[in-house]
Amino acid sequence: KKRIAVMTSGGDAPGMCAAVRAVVRAGIYLGCEVYGCYEGYSGLVKGGEYLKKMDWEDVRGWLSLGGTLIGTARCMEFKEKWGRLQAAKNMILRGVDALIVCGGDGSLTGADIFRDEWPSLVAELVKNGTFTDEQVEPYKHLTIVGLVGSIDNDMSSTDNTIGAYSSLERICEMVDYIDATAASHSRAFVVEVMGRHCGWLALMAGTACGADSIFIPERPPSSKSWKDELKEICLRHRSKGRRKTTVIVAEGALDDELNPITSEQVKECLVEIGLDTRITTLGHVQRGGTAVAFDRLLATLQGVDAVKAVLESTPDTPSPMIGFVDNKVVRRPLIESVKLTKSVATAINEKRFDDAMKLRDTTFKE
Ligand code: ATP
Repeated sequence: KKRIAVMTSGGDAPGMCAAVRAVVRAGIYLGCEVYGCYEGYSGLVKGGEYLKKMDWEDVRGWLSLGGTLIGTARCMEFKEKWGRLQAAKNMILRGVDALIVCGGDGSLTGADIFRDEWPSLVAELVKNGTFTDEQVEPYKHLTIVGLVGSIDNDMSSTDNTIGAYSSLERICEMVDYIDATAASHSRAFVVEVMGRHCGWLALMAGTACGADSIFIPERPPSSKSWKDELKEICLRHRSKGRRKTTVIVAEGALDDELNPITSEQVKECLVEIGLDTRITTLGHVQRGGTAVAFDRLLATLQGVDAVKAVLESTPDTPSPMIGFVDNKVVRRPLIESVKLTKSVATAINEKRFDDAMKLRDTTFKE
């Protein structure tokens, strides 16, 4: 029986539990054994109890849950070769040679490095006497499949990451709450939202909530004029009878000189035009709560496809990342998708903002 390990890694996102559930159940349905790897890569490095066989019933009720019940962690040891050697040993001890990782670009990069290195790690485990040649014979090749779990929706090659729409929903609920009190007191609110270097959550939330203005890294305003422009926009809206002012700031917002645009700076502008202004930093509530229907579906469809991809993989096929493009589940070469994602950061650093926008939407074509 094929033994597959499934892990969640990096920042937690609603829908990760649904993805694990789908992998466990699709795996069992297709004749595999599935092991839950607890605490991300730390679980592989520690082994033993951290690699636990999961049965059909173990994931009952997981479809809608937020967070991840198999835990996630940032694991420095896995970035070192000795940590990966330990991980390889623990996997072979459990009879596992396929790994489905649900995480962000860092986690998927780590997974691909692990696969490339796998043959030399196995050779080293024979050389240092941990295993014999016969023992490692069935483990010559490591299969890696990536699922993108992230609230930021910051991965190229997929239209959506697991968790992004749940987070967007949460942000919109919060902004609606804030809007009610803002309109009552005729106040202004600056709402800072997550997304790291990606403006997707801020842009979507600002549009869905009818914000007066939105600041994101990919469409930076002029460093010279953004403050005056913001004041002019908000005053104009007020002059038309609007009783509230809402400005959404992505945590990674920049101006076109790459200076950060902070909530404090935005607040100062609004105070200067006479508005009673408060800052609300939404923080970790954006990660919380149940997964919205879309994330449950995405995680389920992709989790099932991840198991199929494991069963169809050969030593020659590149590790796939399961994505979702134009409403269809697709497989893309993992490392190409990671590279594209990283090139967005490079484009922003080089002030090629139009390229950054395009690269975000680019799908690697096979
Ligand atoms: P998020 O987007 O939510 O931050 P992420 O997967 O990008 O998720 P990271 O902290 O970058 O989060 O990576 C998670 C873990 O993946 C790291 O703690 C580390 O164990 C592993 N990892 C990341 N990069 C590498 C790498 N270059 N080599 C080996 N392992 C890595």
